[in-house]
Amino acid sequence: MTNSDHHWFGCDIAPGQSANTEFEVTESYSSRSVVIPIQIRRGLSPGPTVFVTAALHGDELNGTGAIRALLADRSWVLQSGTLLLIPVLNVLGFERHSRYLPDRRDLNRCFPGTRGGSMASRLAKVIFDSLITKCDYGIDLHTAAVRRTNFPNVRADLSNPDCVRLAEAFGAGIILHGKGPKGSLRREATKAGCPTIIIEGGEVWKVESSVADCMTRGIFNCLKELDMMPGKPDIPDTQAIIRETRWLRAERGGFMSMHVAPGDTVVKGQAIATNSNLLAEDQNRLEAPFSGVVIGMTTLPAVQPGEPVVHIGRLANPKSARRHEKQIAGDDVQRTAHEHLATNIQVTEASESPIDES
Ligand SMILES: [Zn+2]
Repeated sequence: MTNSDHHWFGCDIAPGQSANTEFEVTESYSSRSVVIPIQIRRGLSPGPTVFVTAALHGDELNGTGAIRALLADRSWVLQSGTLLLIPVLNVLGFERHSRYLPDRRDLNRCFPGTRGGSMASRLAKVIFDSLITKCDYGIDLHTAAVRRTNFPNVRADLSNPDCVRLAEAFGAGIILHGKGPKGSLRREATKAGCPTIIIEGGEVWKVESSVADCMTRGIFNCLKELDMMPGKPDIPDTQAIIRETRWLRAERGGFMSMHVAPGDTVVKGQAIATNSNLLAEDQNRLEAPFSGVVIGMTTLPAVQPGEPVVHIGRLANPKSARRHEKQIAGDDVQRTAHEHLATNIQVTEASESPIDES
């Protein structure tokens, strides 16, 4: 499928050309136009139309850093199709360093939106109609929510062959199956005929170089897969497909000593984190419920009962965990992210002595 429309937001863009422009999505309290900046690139040949968006949650900036790196890099050329690069989709949240819109709604639960609905719903409608439904594929870049970090991973509806193709081509090394929450951009875009994947990596309020590098490689990989750029995608030899994940939650109020870092592989029963009181007396220990890979964790060691500590994606068995560990170590981009993200967490060895949980 190709989109022959070369008229975008008031610009006529000839084959081989690009344009920086913006489109109006709503009006501010001070009666000004609220606009989303966008770069539109066309290759010389016809091909698919692809959007790449970041900061749909306005505080999630790793994707913004990745897209800005692509915008500043003059060395690559789009050979076919049309690429829409949007460094900040939720400009109202971004202005306030916030995940949410000024009406406290989550824009990523409001798609496809309605014309006469809430402020968030109208905003979603304009974005969906003027951008998303005009594309053949989409890539949406995210980070973990506030006080957490994620090891870079792709999330996609693996019942959709086009989403599988994009997810595998992206080459993050870890692919989580799921359609996404109702009203999320990727779920509603995929449903509307624009197969869309998301990437989760790193923390809010930062551009982390190792995460941004994983994202830029993945975007180029997808463009190569779709023949929009020359060359073959640079993909790890094997990638983990994850269909089940679990958040290990704190059972006691206290301070968590972490025994794992983002991207670590674990085996069933392995010590994940020890909870102690402020005088460093151990209270309880969290153990891996199955073999897997650490895809996310809290960056805030102080916890109350029920608060999420470590998010583990399930792998089949200890052997597949070891295989995945080697896979991460053998891929420069993932190995760098693994080493780099671990520096944000204090990781300690679990003590040998049993914990009295009385
Ligand atoms: Zn997000």
